[in-house]
Amino acid sequence: MRRRDFLAAGGALFLAGCSRSGSSSAAAPTTSAAESAAASTSAAATPTEEPAPTPGTPAEILARSTVPVLCFHQIREFRPDDSAYARTIITPPAVLTAQLQALRDGGHTPVTAPALVDHLQFGTPLPDRPVLLTFDDGSVTHATAALPALREFGFPAAFFPMTVVLDKPDWLSSDQLRELDAAGMTIGAHSWDHQRVDQLTGGQWTEQLDDPRATLAGILGHPVDLLAYPHGMWDQEALPHVAAAGYRAAFQLSDPTDPAQPLLTIRRIMPPPTWDGATLLAHLESDF
Ligand SMILES: [Zn+2]
Repeated sequence: MRRRDFLAAGGALFLAGCSRSGSSSAAAPTTSAAESAAASTSAAATPTEEPAPTPGTPAEILARSTVPVLCFHQIREFRPDDSAYARTIITPPAVLTAQLQALRDGGHTPVTAPALVDHLQFGTPLPDRPVLLTFDDGSVTHATAALPALREFGFPAAFFPMTVVLDKPDWLSSDQLRELDAAGMTIGAHSWDHQRVDQLTGGQWTEQLDDPRATLAGILGHPVDLLAYPHGMWDQEALPHVAAAGYRAAFQLSDPTDPAQPLLTIRRIMPPPTWDGATLLAHLESDF
């Protein structure tokens, strides 16, 4: 029942729900579990001839957390029935191209999500004026509109699809996920059906965190270790579950980066389609 209702709701539900307002998560007790788990995961992926990099302390990671991260949703023209709110997070293709052009003209260099996480965790250098582009929810427009634009500019990005929508009309197919992956894009998880992690209980942790990671890994044929929180929302209680599910890093929206778990609370902003290039570049400077 829930699944059918969910699918019937289609994209509008998520256009209405992927962002958040206000802030409810405050800084809280320190735990190093995520850093430890992330460090061992990364070390296992390091070529054996190289020494394992030394992960930074939370304070060091927090100090590096100044790289702008942008979050987009659907890349398409407005439709008559799009709500006023939806029109703030739908990006028409020409607007996306203009914003990407502004990044290029402003001397910004989009980097991959793993490169950013390596920088945060280990201090690996990034190019001048780095920025990370991310696309949430799994709209088919990520393959049909975002990918061609990114290819035109030679920019990498990260995509965070909900797994419940995969292979459904108007959403990414498994083949399109593999196409994005093969094009050098990073695929991360965004829960099964967009439940807020600060409201999960019992078996929902596995359903919303472990299973989507396994599903995506099965489609792509390699591990997936990044997460974007549905609605951008998180709380302290969720962070140990995120780390235990095997996520190396996780992206939120507007809360301050957590000083104890900065890798699991990476900040992003959502550039509305009304931002021209100059406005976008100004926010990259002022918001990070
Ligand atoms: Zn979302």
